[in-house]
Amino acid sequence: MAKFIKPTIFSSKCLGFAACRWNGEIIPDRFIASLKAHVSFVTECPEYRIGLGIPRDPRRIVLEGESYSLQQLNTGKDVTKSMEKFSKDFIASTGDIDGFILKDRSPSCGLKDVKVYSSLKPGSPTGKTTGFFAREVLEKFGHLAIETEARLTNFNLRENFLTRIFLSAKFRKIKAQPTIKDLVQFHAENKLLLMAYNQKELKIMGQIVANFEKKKIEAVIADYQDHLYKALAGLPKYSSNINVMMHALGYFSERLSSEEKGFFLNTLEEYRREQTPLSVPLSLLRSYIVRFKEGYLMQQTFFEPYPVEFLAVRDSGKGRVIFLRKSGHNGERMVS
Ligand code: SF4
Repeated sequence: MAKFIKPTIFSSKCLGFAACRWNGEIIPDRFIASLKAHVSFVTECPEYRIGLGIPRDPRRIVLEGESYSLQQLNTGKDVTKSMEKFSKDFIASTGDIDGFILKDRSPSCGLKDVKVYSSLKPGSPTGKTTGFFAREVLEKFGHLAIETEARLTNFNLRENFLTRIFLSAKFRKIKAQPTIKDLVQFHAENKLLLMAYNQKELKIMGQIVANFEKKKIEAVIADYQDHLYKALAGLPKYSSNINVMMHALGYFSERLSSEEKGFFLNTLEEYRREQTPLSVPLSLLRSYIVRFKEGYLMQQTFFEPYPVEFLAVRDSGKGRVIFLRKSGHNGERMVS
């Protein structure tokens, strides 16, 4: 049904690309390996690039007063300035990119659960923070999909990551040679997907595309991009995804047998209870769309937001992240 543009993703180099960890190891990652056929990777090891060598003395983030520093544990060498400089320069020179996969808990690459100590002396961590390289990533690319390999073992986060990187790649292509016609097409085919993410932003984006003020295409694209990233900032609520799927079911419910409808509604209930990923009811809907040749639904990316090769479910869905659902809102928290 869908044609995909290859996204460009940054990955920490130790995640299956090079044996560059402090202890000289490489970390094989099944999901990242599966991405290689569909994604262009940019990889780097910030610690190696600032000259720490392989293997190397482990590093630690130390908080003294209000100041964080990156120090080597045994030598006491302070590499804060060189890491900050490398990170700033590298991120500033990074061109078009659609997302990041960073190594969990690394004092350089870790996203938000990196241990902080009060000194280099033996003792327990006093808190958690973001790694030095990851800070720069968040500073410049905070609007993109940024995950760690550990969080991506959770299928909800993985589905969201894949959806965002393939959408971002497609939008980048439109931005490269922008026309209103292509933007209208992009908006039309992503309508149900964006409806699931954020109805308010979808409405604003519809007005931007209509361009009643007759703005120049560059201004329209810039406005649209702002709201596109706002729309994608949070995970879609379960209830929003279910509403979109029930809406789609309406297109062929008359033509399905009561057993087929019952089976679909059971699958939807399993999804609502977080016992099955979104991709399962989506696969069912896709089969109906093909069977009944529903042209409007066929063009909707909601049903195939990324290549079908990623639809296989290989985990329990719980990973190391659990979801807290309060009053219909999906929050999330890390469990270590
Ligand atoms: S986590 Fe980052 S700095 Fe550490 S080995 Fe991997 S790529 Fe290098």
